[in-house]
Amino acid sequence: MSARTVVVLGGGIGGVVAARRLRRRLASDDRVVLIERDPLFRFAPSYLWVMHGDRRPDQITRDLRHLRAKGIEVIEAEVTGIDPAERQATTSAGTIRGDALIVALGARLDPASLPGFTDTAHNIYTVDGAQAAGDAVRSLSAGTVAVLVAGTPYKCPAAPYEAAFLVDDLLRRGGARDRVTVDVYTPEALPMPTAGPAIGDAVVELLGEHGIGFHPGRSATRIDAATNALVFADGGDAHADVLLGVPPHRSPDVVATSGLAGDSGYIPVDPHTLATAVPDVFAIGDVTAIPIARGKLLPKAGVFAEAEARVVADQIAHDWRGRTSRHAFDGKGSCFLEIGDGHSAYAGGDFYAPDGPNVAMRGPGRRWHLAKVVFEQYWMRRWL
Ligand SMILES: Cc1cc2nc3c(=O)[nH]c(=O)nc-3n(C[C@H](O)[C@H](O)[C@H](O)COP(=O)(O)OP(=O)(O)OC[C@H]3O[C@@H](n4cnc5c(N)ncnc54)[C@H](O)[C@@H]3O)c2cc1C
Repeated sequence: MSARTVVVLGGGIGGVVAARRLRRRLASDDRVVLIERDPLFRFAPSYLWVMHGDRRPDQITRDLRHLRAKGIEVIEAEVTGIDPAERQATTSAGTIRGDALIVALGARLDPASLPGFTDTAHNIYTVDGAQAAGDAVRSLSAGTVAVLVAGTPYKCPAAPYEAAFLVDDLLRRGGARDRVTVDVYTPEALPMPTAGPAIGDAVVELLGEHGIGFHPGRSATRIDAATNALVFADGGDAHADVLLGVPPHRSPDVVATSGLAGDSGYIPVDPHTLATAVPDVFAIGDVTAIPIARGKLLPKAGVFAEAEARVVADQIAHDWRGRTSRHAFDGKGSCFLEIGDGHSAYAGGDFYAPDGPNVAMRGPGRRWHLAKVVFEQYWMRRWL
């Protein structure tokens, strides 16, 4: 059999894991090509530690071009078109065709779509925004800090709550907590709604214990940059001296025009194989839309992107050897919820359970914070 090529679009969590695992499993003359616009990989689960001052950006950043030494062809380019039937991508560095194609382009942050967001909010979904948010909170001696979820779906449903707990912790350390109110505004009815009401109620209770206001069902329509007011669809408003924002998320434009996307703009896939409707074309991670029980979608999270990438890599490697992979994605996943003072909670379970996600929370405690640190270190060393 002559050598074949797998093309991975996107070098984030899913794309990196897929490329690394494929490189280990494919024959040495098969090509693994990874196309990514930004050669600097940043580990997003640690962004809020940057905000809190526990990490510097350079500690969670790696240069993807190092993967070339491991036999992966890293192409630094913008993907401008996808032709699924031809398993082909058009990029700013030319056109590349594969025998298999993996779309791992994530979700696109779209702060400009909420008027006023870019001028007023610290975008905590970027490493620079998270760092600036931490600086702004530390310099506040009195007033209000608000964490705003600008729309759903968004990646890592725990992150805005984690941000609020870490703001609370920063203010306590700086001695300003009793002069600063901290509030979370979200269109959701409960935190982390896909994980079920018991988890949501537990997070609301934790927010209450920390004196953090929780304002569900609030959809912001704009932010008034002159007055720092959040204006909501229900006619109400709220003031924030420091605003931390989770920006609206969208499907990448190149995906929306590829013919692979469903109504949501994200890509429907087989929930166990991650196969799209087009043979030999797979999609993994945040760019997918995977329905689960009770009319919900699988949350967008790195833990799922990684697990899906492993499954797809194994399928391609088996297929090219004329075998069938028994490795299927099972919908199991977990996440940590930092609550400050070196403590975390942990939520994990089965998101594919037929009656709806079966997720349990542990902690909070110090051991779960340490487990999160171990997870970060494992991830960076294992895959980059
Ligand atoms: C603050 C924060 C905290 C988080 N915490 C956790 C956590 O604790 N646990 C967890 O599991 N998840 C967490 N997540 C979510 C996690 O980071 C994402 O779910 C995960 O990165 C998704 O992986 P992905 O490969 O699908 O997409 P991404 O990692 O976003 O990768 C997509 C890649 O595609 C590239 N790309 C996009 N379009 C193009 C194009 N046209 N051309 C070229 N390249 C392109 C992008 O540059 C990007 O590198 C967190 C996220 C944030 C922001």
